[in-house]
Amino acid sequence: VIEIRDLHKSYGQLEVLKGVSLSAHRGEVISLIGSSGSGKSTLLRCCNLLEDSQQGEVLFKGEAVRWRGHGLGRHPADRAQVIRIRTNLSMVFQQFNLWAHMTILQNVMEAPVTVLRRDRHEVEEAARGYLAKVGIGDKCDAYPAQLSGGQQQRAAIARALCMEPTALLFDEPTSALDPELEQEVVKVIKALAEEGRTMLIVTHDMRLAADVSDHVVFLHRGLIEEEGAPDTLFGNPRTERLRQFLSATA
Ligand code: ATP
Ligand code: MG
Repeated sequence: VIEIRDLHKSYGQLEVLKGVSLSAHRGEVISLIGSSGSGKSTLLRCCNLLEDSQQGEVLFKGEAVRWRGHGLGRHPADRAQVIRIRTNLSMVFQQFNLWAHMTILQNVMEAPVTVLRRDRHEVEEAARGYLAKVGIGDKCDAYPAQLSGGQQQRAAIARALCMEPTALLFDEPTSALDPELEQEVVKVIKALAEEGRTMLIVTHDMRLAADVSDHVVFLHRGLIEEEGAPDTLFGNPRTERLRQFLSATA
């Protein structure tokens, strides 16, 4: 459902992605690992129109995801495509990004109701269901500040699920959390993997990557240095760089 072909991305003089190709099939879980600054977040952000790229392409179900126009007039495609892509490739961020002035239930309902214009009652029922699914069904009327980090991140996952996306994109979903809280979120991600959800997960948590992924991609300075099945990649790394990276994160 997602195909990235020879993607190049620079910020000014800094070339962050130097030709990355990657595809995620339906039901597949792919983890992206690599050092800080290797371009992992940038790669995810190019998939759902948060960033522009200079060369190569991203396809969602065969549809080219691209920016239009030139210079300052550049914009991420047309509004309909932005909505379609961000709905279908729903992103979960490291810092949760919940609206502080809305309750948890309102946070989850917001985009489906205002952006997708779905029926409020149906969305509310679905939202309550997703919040229960991630284990915080009792927090509907609380505000984000009243929740622990792990609960906030689970609310953010419920919010992403409520878009009924084709795939979920996670950018270090557990990095802002204490170890115990991290496990609550890991459990939810594992359950989603078992359901057969398509997911692209950027993570520093090698155990999570090893446990949930069908395929692991090691990014190094904007290029895929090594990729493969988790057992092979973690058990028998071929490149010196991956060996070094793994021993540094162990
Ligand atoms: P981390 O593990 O620390 O999150 P990452 O692999 O996600 O790292 P990116 O966030 O993709 O790395 O950043 C890759 C490089 O691009 C870094 O050198 C970063 O400083 C640079 N960069 C990222 N965003 C911008 C931006 N908006 N403007 C300029 N440079 C940027
Ligand atoms: Mg990042």
